[in-house]
Amino acid sequence: MHRISEKVHEPIQALYVSQLLQWPLARDNYHALDDVLRRDIPLGDFPSALQFNPARRRSTAAVVDKKTIEKRPCFLCSANRPEEQIECHLNDDFSILVNPYPIFPLHLTISATTHRPQDRWPLDMVICAEKMPGVVFFFNGARAGASAPDHLHFQATADCELPIIGLIERHHPVSCPGLRYSTDFGLDLPFGFFSFVIPADSSGQQVLAQALNVCGFDPKTGRPDRDLLNVFVWLDPAGLLRIVAIPRKAHRPDCYFIEGDGHHTVSPGAVDMAGLVILPDKEDFDSLTADELRVIYAQTAFTQDEFKHLYIK
Ligand SMILES: [Zn+2]
Repeated sequence: MHRISEKVHEPIQALYVSQLLQWPLARDNYHALDDVLRRDIPLGDFPSALQFNPARRRSTAAVVDKKTIEKRPCFLCSANRPEEQIECHLNDDFSILVNPYPIFPLHLTISATTHRPQDRWPLDMVICAEKMPGVVFFFNGARAGASAPDHLHFQATADCELPIIGLIERHHPVSCPGLRYSTDFGLDLPFGFFSFVIPADSSGQQVLAQALNVCGFDPKTGRPDRDLLNVFVWLDPAGLLRIVAIPRKAHRPDCYFIEGDGHHTVSPGAVDMAGLVILPDKEDFDSLTADELRVIYAQTAFTQDEFKHLYIK
């Protein structure tokens, strides 16, 4: 949990200490992170890697159709949360929780205090990022990896954990504030995205509004879709606010639905799109190839060519 400012370090640290003392499930799952495996699998200039993490099966293989969601008690509502889970008050609208099924040593869930749908990404992510340098806040749209699409929430980890952050900080310099498209970078990347550096002056509001309005696109309906989007918000080393938005075309790739040969239990959310692909099956971890990963990205987000055609007029 390095690089967290003094200001936020203490309450979050205290939350972790008490949760790992009182909550055996969380303690076991955080300790199990010592055993996760990682394999780098770069795609062109994109520094992607695989993580073998069997504890994430419940999230990767979560059933997120409307009927199933309506039937189950919402695990983010305070009434249904595990008895041991305690919350750290962020503001009237959001609470900070330790994620009991972590991908990272610091893995927070920031959950709305009331049960309301995973609609557009909340401005509270910006408030959080400004308060916590070194921490990246990320959002899974309701059809882009959210395992509770009925309850507004986002997550957080240390910014060094997500490969895409370093790539963007290198290729979108703070001397060029505003919007840059991934296609401007002149790199070999497996999918397209929007990168915003929010200027500290009065034009910042306008750029922020632009970032808030980014949508994914559903090829089936032919319409822009807010639910098909992953968003990352963080404060960079220069102290400027950065936002990255990855429009999606689908939640899951074809290989998720194939039975037998060719099946891979992979279900990309924000972390996977940021370059760390979470695999609960050892066989997938051992066998997944760079070409297969490119196909997974191309079926769930837009290739650079598709992105250019769809978003750059
Ligand atoms: Zn709820």
